[in-house]
Amino acid sequence: MSETIFGKIIRGEIPCHKVYEDDRVLAFLDINPLSRGHTLVIPKEPAQTLDTLSEESAAALGRVLPRICRAVIAVTGVKEYNVLENNGGGAHQAIAHVHFHIIPKPNHAEGLGIGWPMQPLAPPTGAALAAKLRAALE
Ligand code: 5GP
Repeated sequence: MSETIFGKIIRGEIPCHKVYEDDRVLAFLDINPLSRGHTLVIPKEPAQTLDTLSEESAAALGRVLPRICRAVIAVTGVKEYNVLENNGGGAHQAIAHVHFHIIPKPNHAEGLGIGWPMQPLAPPTGAALAAKLRAALE
């Protein structure tokens, strides 16, 4: 696990605008927000991607995320928002430490812009793929 800027923020070695903290989770304002209230929610565990995160840290994040979303809505007055979590450089992850973005979407110009290159899923393809995924989860 390589050192990241978020590890330094967790240890208090560099400052952040802290929003929330408990034993396993830290939330703070993004330094380059896409909109007012853009908040990062991170586990203290130094996992690079979500698939490598412990169930304990995942549960702690899941428990607090809706509460932080409610605070962002209450303070910004913006009810629409995206929750984003990138994994890997090709998927736009710049910092190699799991982080959930909470990004208010006040209007078309601010907040997250999303490309959504959808293609229809043929039923036989979907059935085969879902079966493989179920097997991988066993
Ligand atoms: P990613 O592309 O990895 O999902 O997002 C990384 C986010 O971390 C970016 O939105 C970026 O603005 C934010 N960020 C990078 N360095 C710092 C920092 O030192 N402090 C804070 N608060 N946010 C940072």
